[in-house]
Amino acid sequence: MSKLLKDKAYINGTWVAADSGKTFDVTNPATEKTIGNLPDLGEAETERAVDAAHKAFPEWSGMLAVDRQKVLEKWYDLIVEHVDDLVEILTMEQGKPHKEAKGEILNGAGFIKWYAEEGRRIYGDNIPSNADNQRIVVIKQPVGVAAMITPWNFPSSMITRKAAAALGAGCTVVIKPAEATPYSALALAHLADQAGFPKGVFNIVTGDAKTIGEVLTSHPKVKKFSFTGSTAVGKKLMAQCADSVKKVSLELGGNAPFVIFEDADMDKAVDGAITSKFRNAGQTCICANRIFVHENIYDDFLNRFVEKTKALKLGHGDDDKTDIGPMINRDGVEKAYELLKDAIDNGAELHCGGEMRDDLGPRFLEPAVITDVKPSMRIFKEEIFGPVAALYKFSSTDEVVKMANDTQYGLAAYIYTNDLKRAWEVPEALDYGMVGVNSSLLSLPQAPFGGVKQSGFGREGAKYGLDDYIQIKYMSVQF
Ligand code: NAP
Repeated sequence: MSKLLKDKAYINGTWVAADSGKTFDVTNPATEKTIGNLPDLGEAETERAVDAAHKAFPEWSGMLAVDRQKVLEKWYDLIVEHVDDLVEILTMEQGKPHKEAKGEILNGAGFIKWYAEEGRRIYGDNIPSNADNQRIVVIKQPVGVAAMITPWNFPSSMITRKAAAALGAGCTVVIKPAEATPYSALALAHLADQAGFPKGVFNIVTGDAKTIGEVLTSHPKVKKFSFTGSTAVGKKLMAQCADSVKKVSLELGGNAPFVIFEDADMDKAVDGAITSKFRNAGQTCICANRIFVHENIYDDFLNRFVEKTKALKLGHGDDDKTDIGPMINRDGVEKAYELLKDAIDNGAELHCGGEMRDDLGPRFLEPAVITDVKPSMRIFKEEIFGPVAALYKFSSTDEVVKMANDTQYGLAAYIYTNDLKRAWEVPEALDYGMVGVNSSLLSLPQAPFGGVKQSGFGREGAKYGLDDYIQIKYMSVQF
C-alpha cells in the first residue's frame, strides 16, 4: 500500500507540493486520527495543471483510438491488480466497509475498460444532401481540456466514471477530488502514471475547493467542466462557467422514491430497499430517500424491513463483519440526526436505531426506521444522506406517482412490482433520469447514469457518456 499512498499532488507527470508549502490534514472518519497531509494548492499550481493538460491535448487527441485503448486498458489492469491496496486506502479515508470499497473500485474500473473500447466507436455521420455536387459529413472531436470536481462519497468511481469517458474521447483532464478523500484519487494517478499516459494527460490537484474551483470554471483553456456534488454548489459552479461558455455536466443531489406495490416480490423488495437505503451509510445520491409501501402489504414489509435493519452491523470498515461504517463527518451525522428528530417531534414513530454510537466513535449513527412520515416534514423534502429510512403508506398508483414526483430532484427512482403493465407505465410517469424496476443497482459502465430537474444534466456511462466530452463538426463539401 505504501507505494500507492502518495503525499503530493500530480501535475504534468510529476508529484508536486504547494508553492506556499501549505498542507491540509486528511482524517480517518472511523477513528478521527490524521492519516497524513497533502498539498494545499492554490491558483498558480492549478493554472499549471491546466496548462499541462492543454499542452498534452494535441498528442493525446491525435493518438489512434486503438493506442489510447491500450493505455486505458493497462490502467484498468493495474487497478484490478492493486485492488486490495486501493480498498484499504478508500476505507481509511472514507469509512465504507471493505466489501463496499472493493465493489466501488471494481465498478469504477469497469468504466475505464468500457471507455477504452467505446473510444474506438466514436462514429460520425454522412447525411444525404440535396445537391449532386455536395456532401454533408459530421465528424466528432474531443472538446479539449476537461476539468472535474468530485465528491467524497465515492472517492474512486466518481473519478474513473468521468475521467474514463473524457480520456476515451481524447480529452486531457484536471481533477480536484474532495478534500476529505484525496488519497484514492492520488493512488489512481500513481497507477495512471505507471500505465503510460503521456505527461499532462491526467492531473490531480488537491486543496481548497473554492480557490481551485474558480480557476477550473473560469480558465479559457478548460473547455469542459464536470461536477458531482450538491445542487447548491453545482448551481454556483454552473454560473461560474457561464463567462467562458464551457460545456458543463452536473450530477447533483437526489431524493429517490422507492415504491413497493402490493404485487411485488416481498423478499426482493425488502433486500432492495435495505441495499438502496443503507449502502455507504446512506450517503449516496441515489439512496432510497422516501420508501412508499402499498397499504395492503405495509405491515408485513415494515416487520421484515425493521428485522433486517436491526441485523445490520455498524462498525469500522476494516472489520469484515461490518455492514455500515461511519459517516463522513460530524456535520453529516448531525444533519441526519436533526431530520430524524424533526420527524419524531412532529409525530413520526421510531421503530429501531437512531442512537449515536459514541462507543464506536463520534461519527456512527445506528440505522433507523421511522413510519407515519408526512410530506410536510423536512425529511420528505430534504436529502437525508444518512442511515435513516422513512416509510410512507399509499393506496393508489396515481397518488404514489404524484408524491414521488413532488420534489425538485429527479435523479433515481425505484419501483417493485410483478405487474407488467405497471412496470412500464409507472417508470414512464416518473420524472427521473433513472428508474430501477425490481432492481436497486444503477451505476454500470454500459448504462447512462444521470438526472433531470435540479439533479443536473449530462450522463456518465454508456455511449451517451462520451457525448459530454465531444463536439460535433459538420462539413459541407461542394465540388
Ligand atoms: P459538495 O459540498 O457539493 O462537494 C462536492 C465537491 O465540490 C467536493 O469536491 C467539494 O470540495 C467541492 N466544492 C464544494 N464547494 C465548492 C466551491 N465553492 N467551489 C468548487 N468546489 C466546491 O457535496 P458533498 O457534501 O461533498 O456531497 C454530497 C452531495 O453530492 C449530495 O447532495 C449528493 O446527492 C451529491 N452527489 C451526487 C452524485 C450524483 O451522481 N448525482 C454523486 C455523489 C454525490 P471539498 O470537499 O474539498 O470542499
